[in-house]
Amino acid sequence: MLTHNLGYPRIGSKRQLKKASEAYWKGKISLHELLQTGADIRLQNWKLQQKAGIDLIPSNDFSFYDQVLDMSLTVGAIPERYHNIVTDQKQPELDLYFAMARGYQNNELDIIAMEMTKWFDTNYHYIVPEFKKDQKFKLFSTKVLDEFKEAKRLGIPTKPVILGPVSYLLLGKEKETGFNRISLIKNLLPVYLEILKKLENSGATWVQIDEPYLAMDLSSEEKEAIQYAYKEIKKASPSLKILIASYFGTLGDNINLATSLPVCALHIDLVRAPEQLDKILEVIPKNMSLSLGLVDGRNIWKNDFESSLELIEKALSAKAPERLLIGPSCSLLHSPCDLEGESNEMDLTAEIKNWMAFAKQKVKEIVYLKELALNKENETNLAILSDNKAAIHSKAKASIIHNAKVAAALGLLGPGHSQRKSQFRDRQKLQEQNLNLPLFPTTTIGSFPQTKDVRQWRANLKKGVLTQNQYDELISEETKAAIQWQEAIGLDVLVHGEFERNDMVEYFGERLEGFVFTQNGWVQSYGSRCVKPPIIYGDVSRPEAMTKYWTAFAQSLTEKNVKGMLTGPVTILQWSFVRNDQPRSVTCQQIALAIREEVNDLEDAGIKIIQIDEPALREGLPLRLSQWDNYLKWAVECFRIAASGVQDKTQIHTHMCYSEFNDIIQHIAAMDADVITIECSRSQMELLDAFAEFKYPNEIGPGVYDIHSPRIPTEGEMVELMEKAKAVISDRQLWVNPDCGLKTRGWEETREALIRMVQAAKSLRKKATVSISSYNANAIQ
Ligand code: GLN
Ligand code: ZN
Repeated sequence: MLTHNLGYPRIGSKRQLKKASEAYWKGKISLHELLQTGADIRLQNWKLQQKAGIDLIPSNDFSFYDQVLDMSLTVGAIPERYHNIVTDQKQPELDLYFAMARGYQNNELDIIAMEMTKWFDTNYHYIVPEFKKDQKFKLFSTKVLDEFKEAKRLGIPTKPVILGPVSYLLLGKEKETGFNRISLIKNLLPVYLEILKKLENSGATWVQIDEPYLAMDLSSEEKEAIQYAYKEIKKASPSLKILIASYFGTLGDNINLATSLPVCALHIDLVRAPEQLDKILEVIPKNMSLSLGLVDGRNIWKNDFESSLELIEKALSAKAPERLLIGPSCSLLHSPCDLEGESNEMDLTAEIKNWMAFAKQKVKEIVYLKELALNKENETNLAILSDNKAAIHSKAKASIIHNAKVAAALGLLGPGHSQRKSQFRDRQKLQEQNLNLPLFPTTTIGSFPQTKDVRQWRANLKKGVLTQNQYDELISEETKAAIQWQEAIGLDVLVHGEFERNDMVEYFGERLEGFVFTQNGWVQSYGSRCVKPPIIYGDVSRPEAMTKYWTAFAQSLTEKNVKGMLTGPVTILQWSFVRNDQPRSVTCQQIALAIREEVNDLEDAGIKIIQIDEPALREGLPLRLSQWDNYLKWAVECFRIAASGVQDKTQIHTHMCYSEFNDIIQHIAAMDADVITIECSRSQMELLDAFAEFKYPNEIGPGVYDIHSPRIPTEGEMVELMEKAKAVISDRQLWVNPDCGLKTRGWEETREALIRMVQAAKSLRKKATVSISSYNANAIQ
């Protein structure tokens, strides 16, 4: 029996990588210093896993930005627009790499970034590979080899990890019509064979190839591509031990495919899909090893050793111990680094902390499971097991988890709670009277730049350097300035700027019961961006208003409408670590009721427009199509519970940030938000294709520029994008806005971009032949 890990968090336990990359981008540290930070993190991670007793330690799980982008560079899939970036001679790769991730702008060049989208159903974002019909691949970056050799030099034998060829292709996107990217497998595979050969020659024995698509619905062509790829790999490197990894769900109807591949070992996710074990044990060939993914890589709760041991026992009844591996369900990329550093007794009490495990603890759990399985009678092991049982038992029985009032409120939920009073057409008229907006109203998504200063104030408040009053004073000045500035540049619907918020989920979690927080529980979201998900350990309720003060304050400063800004129930759920003792849908309903109370409070305070952000709605989609409907039903229902307590004339907005929403557009329409602002500038309005077939009934603001890149868009560009939208959506329905919140941007670029955006809206209005009032007239006729 071997222990192994599929991947370790690479941001560093103190977010060293974030700090170093951002400093490098600003020109504050040298390339050498950045590379050194990377090397230090790798060394630390390898050492830690070695010390814990992990047999197969991963390498190439490190990344300066994203593992999919790493693969694009490895196989030389570099879109043409980056070809003439002049880069540093010593490290030509890294600047090109960052340009692909973030866009590139200097005096002569202005190149947009590659698209970014969510990694399966996680809150991690990857950079989407771009493919052409005659796409050529060649070994370009040798990162995987370099990192393997680096570890070897340090005396640590590792198991290199690469993204598998089929999943790599499927994660990408065709950039021209007339071909299917899976047909590129024949062009792509030689590069994989070359890498594997080189790894073998450098002394690698095991290689982990991730094929997360094995847990997805696959077409017959895609299945054939998998068979083809692994047959070729076997032919080319017959003695290399290939471990093919599936995760995030059951193999389902791909069980036979996966177990018939000529690979040495198969990894399965037994946290998401423990039920698949029986069937797999029936069909897996004798000489194929099975890796049991037992420790949850996606959540922070302690492993329940007893139930894991049952699964191991079951596997042992069908397989020899030397044919078994024990590991996490998926890469620990999605877990925070280390629970030991958490000392905030106020929030995270010793009682709750004792229920949890982060990456470093999970690595230990993997090793314990092996020891427990092999040496049950050993005294130390017995003690470990009984400690674990006690922790699991204490969580199940804890009184702090249950709140009778919350249960009673859920019991009272009926259909009336998820239904606005009138249908959209009627609400729209009332809202036009209530709000008095021009055609193509301009707005932003909520947040304005969270400058160093703003973050420093918050840190100082925490440290006690600032009093609450002093802090509030600073925030109110910042908010005032933002309101005045928005008025000055002529935005139509203003926002208060969210300066008081650390994070759109954390801020609410801190004000709701049932949540706890960590000090350093950071997880990578994209590139250098990390999030610190709250932990929902118990029933959720709202003791008092959460956003009313700052929203009403901002509204008091202006005649224009200030949009109230809330995070939606699905997003709060999706971006938290969620309790695992009740269905997610129930936890989501509890949050929905709390947000509903807040929406109603804002309306009572005179706020006429309220946005309920649901950027995470889509990422919660189950990986298998057959389960979509069930999820969408409760997710949409929860949004509606939150939104439906208001009068018709109050305008409910929602915001989502992803472009692939074509396939769920009916459900998005079913949310029945009066206005949706949505990301789509990175994919150049491709999502508007959806509107060709489906007439979206309500109002919509297709984001006109990409806020994830520091690049400033031109007015012409934004008008052009809106023209595309106008071709499929009526003028009356359209809003003009950036594609997401601006908190990660600097003020300078934000100012310039929004001034141009307002200009773009003005020139659209000039060209429009009808005005809102004539629409009203039409509507009344
Ligand atoms: N209102 C939030 C903001 O502007 C929305 C962020 C998001 O969609 N991720 O920051
Ligand atoms: Zn967004």
